[in-house]
Amino acid sequence: MVNSLSSLFRFLDESPTPFHVVASSVSLLEQKGFAHQKSFSDELLTKGYFIRDGAIIVWSLGAKKAPLRVIGAHTDSPNLRVQPNPNIHNAGWSQLGIEIYGGVLLNSWLDRDLGIAGRVLFTDGTSTLFADHSAIARVPQLAIHLDREVNERGVQLDKHQHTVPVWGTNAPSFQEWLSGKVNRTDIAFYDAHLFDINPATLLGVDNSLIASARLDNQLSCWSALQAITSAESEYNVIVVLNDHEEVGSESMTGAAGPMLESVVEAILNHHSVSPMEKHDLLAASWCLSADNAHAVHPNYQERHDPRHGPRVNEGAALKLNGNQRYATTARGAAHIRNIAKAVDAPLQVFVSRNNMPCGSTIGPITSTRLGIEAIDIGAPQLSMHSARELSGAQDPDHLVSLMSGFIAR
Ligand code: ZN
Repeated sequence: MVNSLSSLFRFLDESPTPFHVVASSVSLLEQKGFAHQKSFSDELLTKGYFIRDGAIIVWSLGAKKAPLRVIGAHTDSPNLRVQPNPNIHNAGWSQLGIEIYGGVLLNSWLDRDLGIAGRVLFTDGTSTLFADHSAIARVPQLAIHLDREVNERGVQLDKHQHTVPVWGTNAPSFQEWLSGKVNRTDIAFYDAHLFDINPATLLGVDNSLIASARLDNQLSCWSALQAITSAESEYNVIVVLNDHEEVGSESMTGAAGPMLESVVEAILNHHSVSPMEKHDLLAASWCLSADNAHAVHPNYQERHDPRHGPRVNEGAALKLNGNQRYATTARGAAHIRNIAKAVDAPLQVFVSRNNMPCGSTIGPITSTRLGIEAIDIGAPQLSMHSARELSGAQDPDHLVSLMSGFIAR
């Protein structure tokens, strides 16, 4: 397997939650000489990063008063999260009460061996991450004998009643179990997420595909980090990995929150850019918003417009939507096409069917908030929001090339 894929697979496997995406990003960044900016009252680091919960923002300063090149992606993926009072004992089973986060493809979570990961906050104000990758829990599907029409009717799940995982027959309380995991009893609160314990893998008789959890959107996070840590640029480069995209981005660490704006201000301040120069600088800046796209599904080809259906292993899809669900303008499309051509990265075009509204992502939000023109792209994949998704094995390299070209040009 090529080196880049083993790095991507490690990133995916070590990042079961947005908090772990941040930790995995930090470990990549520290290896490449980026350092933690703890306070913006301190002198701005030339290559720095700033963390808040499940979001991280990274920058590499360029020439004085040079425009910005921003790459955005999101750290969160739809999943099942352990409730604050999760302990259930029912009909001889121990179960964990869960809350559904984002647009989970629920049936994909049935009959999977699940681990638990997250962060714990202690009474003294400190915190730690934890991850148990063993088979701890499972949402068992009802046997066909007790649901004879299931194949004709389709799996129908009550979101509250039918999604409760079992995690044993005589389990301790969740809080007790968690105390054991972190070796402390002074737990004040926690975030705990369930995840499929299967590691990322190559798939296909020709090894042309990747199967993993959370390809949407950790594939983009990893690619953006590869680009900012390796590409040379005279621009002021920012990579912003926001949380909460899957639930609308309206949070402190979401794309609608202040993180990107704070760092843009810090960079402009560092370069002594005047308020009037700021408008020119932002108008000359670009944001590349990366979020996976829907590849054409061979069994459901009618779900795509026949002339605008992305295929795996043929490069990122450039996403356009006249109704501004995506931010890409003709000017942005031309800009990224020119870059793709110059760096020899394949690029496709995605436009959704008129009778099938597309999802939105962080591009339009960033554009609206900061006035930086955004271009929406994404690696094509199948099974989006499934517990285990499927994408092309060549597309991560394609995406890194495109992002590196974007940063440099
Ligand atoms: Zn996404």
